[in-house]
Amino acid sequence: MVSPAETKSLPVPWPEDAEIQVHIGGCHCKKIRYEFEYPNIYALPVINCNCTICEIRGHLNVFTPENRFKFTSGSADDLTTYEFGDRLLSHRFCSTCGTAIGVLFHHPQRGFVAINTRTIDGIDLSRLQLRKVDGRSFNVGKKLNENAGKT
Ligand SMILES: [Zn+2]
Repeated sequence: MVSPAETKSLPVPWPEDAEIQVHIGGCHCKKIRYEFEYPNIYALPVINCNCTICEIRGHLNVFTPENRFKFTSGSADDLTTYEFGDRLLSHRFCSTCGTAIGVLFHHPQRGFVAINTRTIDGIDLSRLQLRKVDGRSFNVGKKLNENAGKT
């Protein structure tokens, strides 16, 4: 069951009647494996942001509350964290194969994670509903965290 209050502050809120699925994926070398809860990946917009980091790393992101994501193999310690600017975002990638898994958004009340859909097992990129976000024109991390503060 989805608690609407739980996801309405996400960059892409979940519909209240969404059926939640467990998605699995990981990095190329398989050191990192994860699972997370999210509706049907193909039913909701996937963020295609043009900010400097998303563009160069190829992120196509979906968002889930931090407590709905977990590592099933490896851990955060196996990931290299890259932070820049105001350090509100931690970009995570495998220290062995370099796969960009996603982003941890730091927020004091409610953390959430962005998962790079490219790393989900069996993903069909051609079926994604890409939503362009002009992250280059504003500080995407700051904006998303401000949004996360609204309840
Ligand atoms: Zn790896």
